[in-house]
Amino acid sequence: MKRNILVFSEDPRVINEAVYIANILKGNEGKIFGVSKLTEDNDVLSNFDEIHFAKENLIPEQWAKFLIKFYKENEIQYLVSPHTVNNNDIIAYVSAKYNLPMISNATSIKDNDATLIFSRQVLGGRGISYIEVEKSLKLSVTVPIKVYPRIKLDKQSLIKEITEIEKTKITSKGFEEIKKSGFNIENADVVVGIGRGFKSKEDIKLAQDLAEVLNGVIGCSRPIAADYGWLPNDLWIGISSKIIRPKLYIAVGISGAPQHVSGIMDSKIIVAINKDKNATIFKYADYGVVADLYQFLPIFTRKIKENLKK
Ligand SMILES: Cc1cc2nc3c(=O)[nH]c(=O)nc-3n(C[C@H](O)[C@H](O)[C@H](O)COP(=O)(O)OP(=O)(O)OC[C@H]3O[C@@H](n4cnc5c(N)ncnc54)[C@H](O)[C@@H]3O)c2cc1C
Repeated sequence: MKRNILVFSEDPRVINEAVYIANILKGNEGKIFGVSKLTEDNDVLSNFDEIHFAKENLIPEQWAKFLIKFYKENEIQYLVSPHTVNNNDIIAYVSAKYNLPMISNATSIKDNDATLIFSRQVLGGRGISYIEVEKSLKLSVTVPIKVYPRIKLDKQSLIKEITEIEKTKITSKGFEEIKKSGFNIENADVVVGIGRGFKSKEDIKLAQDLAEVLNGVIGCSRPIAADYGWLPNDLWIGISSKIIRPKLYIAVGISGAPQHVSGIMDSKIIVAINKDKNATIFKYADYGVVADLYQFLPIFTRKIKENLKK
């Protein structure tokens, strides 16, 4: 059966994350269209039947309007997109326009002959919901990044530039690259997590010292990055950011909210340091220390250093 797929990502660096899914959905005859921003990445260029590029940065409203038109003109059945903040907004806009059911952040997909079964995490990662849909149903789906294999097809895409860009009342005043930490917390063996138990940005040094003696890196709960801006967003651990799987995770001054815990559950050993003996984080910890971090961390770090010297 012919099923045309539209894969969209405003950021071309992650568009490949959705290509694997597009190929499962495609059926025997469908075409896979890509829509993204101009890139020279060959992995992207060789994965589609057609790829449509914008040379400039478009704002979400402009992307949405382009996709609405494209969707109609190309008889799209499935709209697929990597799960990023902007992609989600845009896909939701397009889905609403066509009344498409939207499956957001689908962590698995199974072809079940007449139906497709998607799974997605619910309740902050504590449960999985399965959604079964008829294959004939038109729908949109967003998929998490770094969950599906990146594939490269052997065909060269037909490349087209997006020239008709809708005017909008919103004017973009420019783009700024977000500050990055320079650490890759997803690959680190040891991560020390910083939470709201820290009273000031300067105090983060206490956790940095601990991470350093353990050859590890620091990460943080959402408020530390998103609300206080004390650390870059790429160090934020949890359901809405990085999922980590270190050998050792030390949560310091972190309460253990489900959104944070779902990002650390695959850690081999979890240690929690918290002054509240009833903190939820202790339920998930292999080792728990009930202590004031300001008293405990300097001594802990010093003792580890001394032991490593022996
Ligand atoms: C849609 C949504 C998505 C979210 N996604 C994420 C996510 O991806 N990641 C994430 O982390 N959060 C996320 N959150 C936020 C989450 O719900 C919590 O609000 C957040 O994780 C709490 O961060 P925290 O543990 O640092 O702070 P708090 O909950 O305030 O906990 C601070 C802890 O520090 C302890 N403490 C205080 N002082 C000391 C001290 N001197 N010594 C030792 N311990 C001390 C306290 O006892 C407390 O347990 C999300 C929320 C929503 C609604």
